[in-house]
Amino acid sequence: NPLQGAQFVLAAHRISQLPADRGAEVAFAGRSNAGKSSALNALTNHKGLARTSKTPGRTQQMVAFGLPPVAVEGQPPLDARLIDLPGYGYAKVPLEMREHWKLEIDAYLHQRRSLRGLVLIVDIRHPLKEFDRMMLAFCFATQLPCHVLLTKADKLSRNQAMQALAALRREFADNSPHATAQIFSSAASTGVDEAREAVMTLLRT
Ligand code: GDP
Repeated sequence: NPLQGAQFVLAAHRISQLPADRGAEVAFAGRSNAGKSSALNALTNHKGLARTSKTPGRTQQMVAFGLPPVAVEGQPPLDARLIDLPGYGYAKVPLEMREHWKLEIDAYLHQRRSLRGLVLIVDIRHPLKEFDRMMLAFCFATQLPCHVLLTKADKLSRNQAMQALAALRREFADNSPHATAQIFSSAASTGVDEAREAVMTLLRT
């Protein structure tokens, strides 16, 4: 697993506090409680890496995780990171804080040169809420590749999960050639290898 060995680097309240903007990074976003921390832990095979089950709206920071250098053909190994973005699209997060993060994340997605792609974590039972649509709109506007994990797939039958995936892909079709999606479950370890591949592909982009 190339994402194993991820390590906490720092937590930041604004983009100026993030690690130096070089190498390659992939950002993770999702509404609070969508299952982002669980997904990060599953992908990195590191149970306590991102804190799960926190009170919604509490952990309002960007967190940087360092990865082992990524091998890229014909180039020196890449300095690679994962960035856990705060999920501010949640009613219980105070308006002022949501506004702060909206501006920070907007600036981050537009300005961060080392950013190679976004992994958007979406609860498969509640696809594309306002927060998700905003994230996708950022990606479409900046042509940033986006990979959606439809997580908690264990909560649906296989058939229902496939239908949700097909519906999401239909929504993308007109909007973005850069968006991809898959079914995921941290609880049932569904789609973990596929998601790791997607992250590695983004890092090497
Ligand atoms: P975050 O706020 O997006 O970081 O979400 P967490 O990873 O903390 O998960 C929120 C809640 O959903 C927790 O109670 C998790 O145990 C649960 N959860 C996360 N992923 C899954 C999953 O794949 N399947 C199921 N059934 N529950 C999940």
